[in-house]
Amino acid sequence: MNNLKIFNDLESEVRSYCRSFPTVFTQSSGYRLRDDKNKEYIDFFSGAGALNYGHNPPQIKKKLIEYLSSDGIVHGLDMATEAKKEFLEQFNQVILNPRKMKYKIMFTGPTGTNAVESSLKLARKVTGRDSIMCFTNAFHGMTLGSLAITGNAGKRQGAGIPLGNAVFMPYDGYWGDSVDTVDYIRKFLDDSSSGVSLPAAIILETLQGEGGLNVASYEWLRRLEALCREKNILLIVDDIQAGCGRTGTFFSFEPAGINPDIVCLSKSISGYGLPMAITLIKPELDIWSAGEHNGTFRGHNLAFVAATEALNYWKDDTLSKHVKNMEKDIHDFLADLVEEHPEIKGEVRGRGFMQGIACGVDGLAVKICSSSFTRGLIIETSGAKDEVIKVMPPLTIDETGLMEGLDILKDSIEDIKVQSFINSKRKNIPKKRHLLASSAY
Ligand SMILES: *Cc1c(COP(=O)(O)O)cnc(C)c1O
Repeated sequence: MNNLKIFNDLESEVRSYCRSFPTVFTQSSGYRLRDDKNKEYIDFFSGAGALNYGHNPPQIKKKLIEYLSSDGIVHGLDMATEAKKEFLEQFNQVILNPRKMKYKIMFTGPTGTNAVESSLKLARKVTGRDSIMCFTNAFHGMTLGSLAITGNAGKRQGAGIPLGNAVFMPYDGYWGDSVDTVDYIRKFLDDSSSGVSLPAAIILETLQGEGGLNVASYEWLRRLEALCREKNILLIVDDIQAGCGRTGTFFSFEPAGINPDIVCLSKSISGYGLPMAITLIKPELDIWSAGEHNGTFRGHNLAFVAATEALNYWKDDTLSKHVKNMEKDIHDFLADLVEEHPEIKGEVRGRGFMQGIACGVDGLAVKICSSSFTRGLIIETSGAKDEVIKVMPPLTIDETGLMEGLDILKDSIEDIKVQSFINSKRKNIPKKRHLLASSAY
């Protein structure tokens, strides 16, 4: 019997990744996963960036087991616990102090969208303004506030009500190299008759993960920051996916030298895939009253234990250097692939361990990723039309694993007869991968 039957029968239609990767996973370690048929997979998805240090890193696992065995506090609302104290000390010593960053740390509910919601609430509270400026192709989460500043039409439709108090502006490069979109935004803000009122904050991803690996240049980020300072607008960086080392530095914005007022972190902050999110707030903006953004799970102490251990990766620059070295390998490999296969009309995008190929042929990226899956590679698409193949291995992957995965991707591309794919698509192939996958159940 089909081993996915129970999921198809009982789980809501909302399920998504289990459609893209239709098998039952049983075990994982480092960059490898195994399914119930004992088939192995290389992970180039890393839980959408929640597993930057790979699956079940042994040193973190050890700390978790010790903590559980000693009856450490697991749930404590936001009460002061030993585990939280150690996390705060470690985050301050390893991340904030060496970077001369001064932030208060807010524990929000454990998902990324909760960190984003808290940042929006705070920006509105601090400035007394209601609108948030955000960008084309942005993704900030699925609750109403975050959805209002998310670009994707399909996701926005899910809200079922009008999403407001957000103004979308063109991200860096949206109109190609010739249009400077900071100048464009400035024009609206300078003109009291533009219809665009002064926003409480501008929120951005330095590299758009879900929106198709669009990269903001450091220069653009600096100019946008200057505009924020000039107009007294708060700058929020949503570093939920691009942060925690994904692009080679702990915060993705470090090389740009900008100094955001608020930073949202989640995904890999716990380092073990345990749910955790934090919002970093410039001390002078920390005007919350007690409990104003409350929540039951703002003190998942297992996540604190894991996060404290995970931050040891940032005590020196070994991991950073590893990512920087491999960044080039990934780039060169993808660039060669694109050159050798002009028929996919590919373009290499991204930086660090967040790179990929945008395919100019409709539906092709999805097809390549499904074909990679059957060959033992977990890899996802992103972008408005799922047109970008996204290469996101754990940061800790070694050269062997990286090459093994990239070779699978290469084989998948080489085996696809693009012209017959286009012809068959004209007839009947649905656009979304989950529709493709569900037909295989
Ligand atoms: C994943 C993500 C979120 C939302 O996080 P959830 O934990 O899924 O709520 C927000 N912003 C960015 C940039 C993300 O990648």
